[in-house]
Amino acid sequence: MDAFYRETWAEINLDHIFCNVSTIKETLPPTKQLIAVVKANAYGHGDVQVARTALEAGASMLAVATLDEAISLRKRDIEAPIIILGAVPPQFVYLAIKYNIILTVYSSEWLRTAQKVVPRTEAVQFHLKLDTGMGRLGLRTEEEIEEFFTLLQETPHFKLTGVFTHFATADELDQGYYEQQYHRFQKLIGYIKEKGIEPGLVHCGNSASLLRFPNDEFDAVRLGISMYGLTPSTEMKSLIPIQLKPAYSLHTKIVHVKKIEKGTSVSYGATYTSEQEEWIATLPIGYADGWMRRMQNFYVLVDGQKSPIVGRVCMDQCMIKIPYELPIGTQVTLIGKQEAEEITMEQVADHSNTINYEIPCVITNRMPKVFI
Ligand code: PLP
Repeated sequence: MDAFYRETWAEINLDHIFCNVSTIKETLPPTKQLIAVVKANAYGHGDVQVARTALEAGASMLAVATLDEAISLRKRDIEAPIIILGAVPPQFVYLAIKYNIILTVYSSEWLRTAQKVVPRTEAVQFHLKLDTGMGRLGLRTEEEIEEFFTLLQETPHFKLTGVFTHFATADELDQGYYEQQYHRFQKLIGYIKEKGIEPGLVHCGNSASLLRFPNDEFDAVRLGISMYGLTPSTEMKSLIPIQLKPAYSLHTKIVHVKKIEKGTSVSYGATYTSEQEEWIATLPIGYADGWMRRMQNFYVLVDGQKSPIVGRVCMDQCMIKIPYELPIGTQVTLIGKQEAEEITMEQVADHSNTINYEIPCVITNRMPKVFI
């Protein structure tokens, strides 16, 4: 960890990530490969550290969203196969070749442009994305697949090494839409094989589907949110067959404490006014760290108890009401456990009207990370 000189930090428990990956791997058939999804700086957990841990725990491939993320991992000596799940502009494909990175190709239009700008000298490895109902990237019909493979014959240096799709509703209790997508994928894979094309590594599972249906017939799964110890949705809590261990916690320390009189206002807009004499502590964390203004009226843990966030969250600081005077330097937990209490990622997400995925992703780069 780089040195840092502030008393606010995110703690990333790599043992928990190791444990989540290896426990999940054990639930899968032994031949199924596990692709660790480390896009968005490993969902805000630290890409290179998580990538190394996941590979040690049994992952055989990494997935990111952008070429920049992939190159950044290569520059920090990650040698495992890396696939980019998002769209790479064709003019930058030469970099994917240089860094030995697998692309996602998702339309004939993309391939047509790439054929014009990518030098024919070296092989471009790619997985083909099929859109079976997510409506994001991918070929949708047999006709589109037909057109794509006809076009591909003109560029034999584009090497198909896999085919995949992504589910839109695998984390919902109703399995109807998931099953439709699954069967559509089976059918399109069958069509590709009938044409005499070897699809390579075929994969569709995300955390929700791989935990619920570990025995899908395909070769690999893409594990994201549950590697970090989080459930893909609240509905799924009761369906998860293993104990996940959350890896992310967030902490700070009290920098200032004061007793205020009844009727004293706190923070911008004077939206909070004390109803009696109160102890107020200032915390050095604010919305520039990703601890958003909407966290007003949520709470933190201090001295093993819940303490409300009072007044507006500022850019770099916020205030909490504490039950009694506490010393400067007292540790405060914003996400995670303190004594018998816990603030989960889901509780923070509920308060913010969003999902657990978003919370660690929006904690900004200003937040130091400590890996334990
Ligand atoms: N595959 C693709 C294409 C994705 O976009 C994502 C995440 O957004 C994943 C896999 C991992 O999903 P999850 O985090 O739900 O496991």
